[in-house]
Amino acid sequence: MKYLMEFEPIIKKSSSLSPHTFSGLAGVCEYLAEPRSKEELAALFKTCHTNKIPFRILGNGCNLLVRSAVVPGVVVKLTNPAFCGFENLGNTVRMGAGASIFSAISFCSQNNMAGFETLIGIPGTIGGALLSNTSDKSGPISRFVRKIEVIDSLGIIQIRDKEEISFSDKGNDLRDPVILSVEFAFEIDKTESIVKRLRKAWISRKIQLPLGVPYAGKIFKNPRGLTAASLMEQGGFQKTKVGGAEICDRDSNYIVIHPNAVVEDVLRLIEQVKQGIRERFNVDLELEITIW
Ligand SMILES: Cc1cc2nc3c(=O)[nH]c(=O)nc-3n(C[C@H](O)[C@H](O)[C@H](O)COP(=O)(O)OP(=O)(O)OC[C@H]3O[C@@H](n4cnc5c(N)ncnc54)[C@H](O)[C@@H]3O)c2cc1C
Repeated sequence: MKYLMEFEPIIKKSSSLSPHTFSGLAGVCEYLAEPRSKEELAALFKTCHTNKIPFRILGNGCNLLVRSAVVPGVVVKLTNPAFCGFENLGNTVRMGAGASIFSAISFCSQNNMAGFETLIGIPGTIGGALLSNTSDKSGPISRFVRKIEVIDSLGIIQIRDKEEISFSDKGNDLRDPVILSVEFAFEIDKTESIVKRLRKAWISRKIQLPLGVPYAGKIFKNPRGLTAASLMEQGGFQKTKVGGAEICDRDSNYIVIHPNAVVEDVLRLIEQVKQGIRERFNVDLELEITIW
């Protein structure tokens, strides 16, 4: 495509998205881009925006279902070290949006920063986690956020203070197309205490969701005052299966992907649950998972 020629060194044509999603169920994207700097990413965004080329950011694909056989336009992965680093700023830490939650926990633990250790076992990147306001039993990650560096809809790099953004357990109202980095503030604690909480969280996560299995999830946002998982349990949806997709019996808000599953199985299962919950409880479940 002529508009993208200047980005040739960082773009692959017709790239499979399966290895980039947790469920492993995905087609290809027209172009997969891995920019080398924030400026290059901003320039790519502007080119796409000006020429009406669809532009999407892919984190670790843990909260993503790809329905299209070919995702049109450009899909961007923030894999370059320019997007995955950690900077200790004294009272706060700046984390690249492409950094994994796992590496963030590791950085914090090594620097006696407490708070992220209970996220252990949650897959994804800092950018994806911020977008959905990822949470665990201790609360949402928004409680540690101080500033967010973004590319705005005009392609300009901007800093947003936490006060400008409204967070809820359903996500946030940030409307900028790209999260570049997030600044977090943590309490300082002893290594032994952090490691103790990390081990405890790891044990309870392994009980909640057995590891080593592909999942699609987290499927639904929690309706106000309720949890999607408990509604599904009350509605008897645990272990409901469509083809190779099955509601997880330990946590109903996740779908187990069996080896014979296709993306249509997952979509039909989601639709079946939504309809059942509407009929039974008069509640419209809203999707948390993104569908491309
Ligand atoms: C096994 C499993 C367990 C999980 N456990 C939990 C849990 O306990 N608690 C919880 O809250 N969630 C949980 N999740 C959900 C998921 O891990 C988080 O929402 C995760 O942080 C998603 O990050 P990601 O990088 O994979 O995002 P992706 O799935 O790649 O993307 C999700 C959305 O975010 C957008 N996005 C990603 N990065 C950026 C960026 N830099 N800028 C702009 N947009 C961006 C994408 O465009 C997409 O719309 C779980 C998921 C799985 C599969």
